[in-house]
Amino acid sequence: MRTNRRSFLRLSAIALPFTRVNQLFAGTPAANKPVVISTWDSGQIANAAAWPVLEKGGRALDAVEQAAIAIENDINCCVGLGGNPDRDGHVTLDACIMDEKSNCGAVAFLERIKHPVSVARKLMETTPHVFLVGAGAQQFALANGFKLESGKLSPDAEKEYKKWLQKAEYKPVINIEHKQSKGHGPFAPARLDNGDFNHDTMGTLALDAQGNLSGMCTTSGMGFKMRGRVGDSPIIGAGLFVDNEIGAATSSGQGEEVIRVAGTHLVVEFMRNGASPEEACKKAVERIVNRDPERAKTFQVGFLAVNKQGEVGAYSVQPGFAYTITTGDGKGKVVPSKSHFS
Ligand code: ASP
Repeated sequence: MRTNRRSFLRLSAIALPFTRVNQLFAGTPAANKPVVISTWDSGQIANAAAWPVLEKGGRALDAVEQAAIAIENDINCCVGLGGNPDRDGHVTLDACIMDEKSNCGAVAFLERIKHPVSVARKLMETTPHVFLVGAGAQQFALANGFKLESGKLSPDAEKEYKKWLQKAEYKPVINIEHKQSKGHGPFAPARLDNGDFNHDTMGTLALDAQGNLSGMCTTSGMGFKMRGRVGDSPIIGAGLFVDNEIGAATSSGQGEEVIRVAGTHLVVEFMRNGASPEEACKKAVERIVNRDPERAKTFQVGFLAVNKQGEVGAYSVQPGFAYTITTGDGKGKVVPSKSHFS
């Protein structure tokens, strides 16, 4: 069964009011490391897989890869081969990974391979390259022992796709002001009928016991996107950025908006200049919103960050963004993010 992230968050007893959460987690001291944070309430799945690595004193890089594998195995709308397809009915995956030495690897427009973050890591560790796309990325994966999956949509994705095809015009929606659009393509407001947004990329950041940072970002991208469309998630500096001296950041939401401001690189630079993780995320959100405050009402972007001291924070354009933090007792706690619009 698919994880319904928004409804989980609304119902969750641990989705505490922000002020309380803020008191609980503000200024998480370095003594609390290791710590792992992931986007959304489904970050609980990711963190639960990352934590055993961190708890044993393992490397942040291994922890975030385990987080990716777990969420890519989960059947949900927005990550892994169970995710929603593009307009042509194919699931295409985007992912990246980055370690404490600024090594990084990324794949995009990858089809029929279950674990894109692991392919990205393989690329990072065994080649001089950073980014492979499409058929080349798939060829590299197969040459390195990854299995070619069937390409069949998950039952839920198939249902969603058929529903989408009934109403969707089979062409890019270019009127970004068209708020009633049912299309969730790159040029349409990705707002669902119930007011939610059709994104849920998984980004995970970890600070290990040695004080090293790593991160990963993995997604099937925006549902019903144009074929070949790639968002922010696999782009180093957009969907993910790690600077082991300063901190790390990841993003979820409308990728085009994040790419335009090199979002996660921006968050890390704000932290370099003294901002806390939450302040840094807020400033990056404001950079996006200020480009066009009216249009910003039609999309969601959320940033999540951790600094070298193990302090964490998030901020989003719209309400509804959340993250999961695991530290100390090893239990994942869901924290709602503050947002620009209320
Ligand atoms: N950021 C992703 C993308 O633009 C979408 C998401 O977060 O769901 O592809």
